[in-house]
Amino acid sequence: MIDTHNIKANIPRLEWTEARRIVIKIGSALLVDCNNGKLKLAWLNSITDEILKLRAQHKDVVVVSSGSIALGRNLIGLPPGPLELDYSQAAAAVGQISLAHAYQDVFHQRGMVAAQILLTLDDTEERRRYLNARCTIEALLDRGVVPIVNENDTVATTEIRYGDNDRLSARVANIIGADCLVLLSDIDGLYTSPSYVGQSSCRIDEVREITPEIEAMAGCSGNTIARGGMVTKLEAAKIALAAGTHMVISSGRVLRPLKVLSEGGPCTWFIAQSDPVTTKKRWISGLLKHAGYIHIDKGAERALLEGRSLLPAGVKRIEGCFDRGDVVVIKSIAGVELGRGLIAYSNIDAKRILGKKSTEIVGILGYNGRSELIHRDDMALMRKSVK
Ligand code: GLU
Repeated sequence: MIDTHNIKANIPRLEWTEARRIVIKIGSALLVDCNNGKLKLAWLNSITDEILKLRAQHKDVVVVSSGSIALGRNLIGLPPGPLELDYSQAAAAVGQISLAHAYQDVFHQRGMVAAQILLTLDDTEERRRYLNARCTIEALLDRGVVPIVNENDTVATTEIRYGDNDRLSARVANIIGADCLVLLSDIDGLYTSPSYVGQSSCRIDEVREITPEIEAMAGCSGNTIARGGMVTKLEAAKIALAAGTHMVISSGRVLRPLKVLSEGGPCTWFIAQSDPVTTKKRWISGLLKHAGYIHIDKGAERALLEGRSLLPAGVKRIEGCFDRGDVVVIKSIAGVELGRGLIAYSNIDAKRILGKKSTEIVGILGYNGRSELIHRDDMALMRKSVK
């Protein structure tokens, strides 16, 4: 559905004000001056002030920042224009150090801690690595740290790379179950026709479905240092909406760009039909294949129906051969299927901690794993929980 009328102008959207976990994607063109390859420090300071405000409201924030190639190419004297892959990798290797330092400095000045996370395509697509990335980001968020993510451009070759941070940021939002993804761009949203065509064109306020009509509106970036254009932004929107994450394209060409969202200013919202947890549960319940069975006692069954997680203490028996993150079927002591979930341990480790208290896990396994065998957000029950 398309809404080209700005009926909700100046009213901040609930998708923004109610968001608890936000991913903010910052494009190279916002952070780096394409004329001299220097960092736009005033802009970086202003967005960091805004992140500080979000953190003060107890919101989790993850930044996906481009800029390594744009910063690095100047430092090693590469000419303007498109670069061969090995030179863009060399530029990224140089520029990423400066980028990470810049974030570390501006965050430190405000009493915040920033962390650098460099991901490859495989880190987000392959299950084990995906889970590792999720655990690391969760641990950082738990300690109040702001992860600054970029693609690991130095090792990612053409076939195994995103190449644009639009889609990477959507996958990151998906991995951590973010409820809102903000793409700060050099344009304030999606227009009915690409502006470079020179036709009269108007901005769309809200998109609920990426139809062929919407896709036809995407143009190309037209910017020499940014890789993504509207096409990759719509690809990002598809990933975000499928995972239950709302996405917004908003202009980063102003200082304090997030203020625009707080004030209901111009932008394009892509509205997900469901939230990340519900979407994930629906996905789990729809999976046909599973890797094993977890037989649980009456107490654990009651706890699950009350909306709680499955702890090792309530497990009687385990069948099957599975790894962390695989889907297993949860069965009652009477053999009735209660639901399915993503298990936090392999069958080998799960058997060792079966029937034990969560506090005993570290002593038995030698590492401090999750206290839940299956977290409630990773579980889809056949019957609705009562809480
Ligand atoms: N990862 C690239 C960089 O840091 C940017 C990719 C993009 O522009 O989306 O330069």
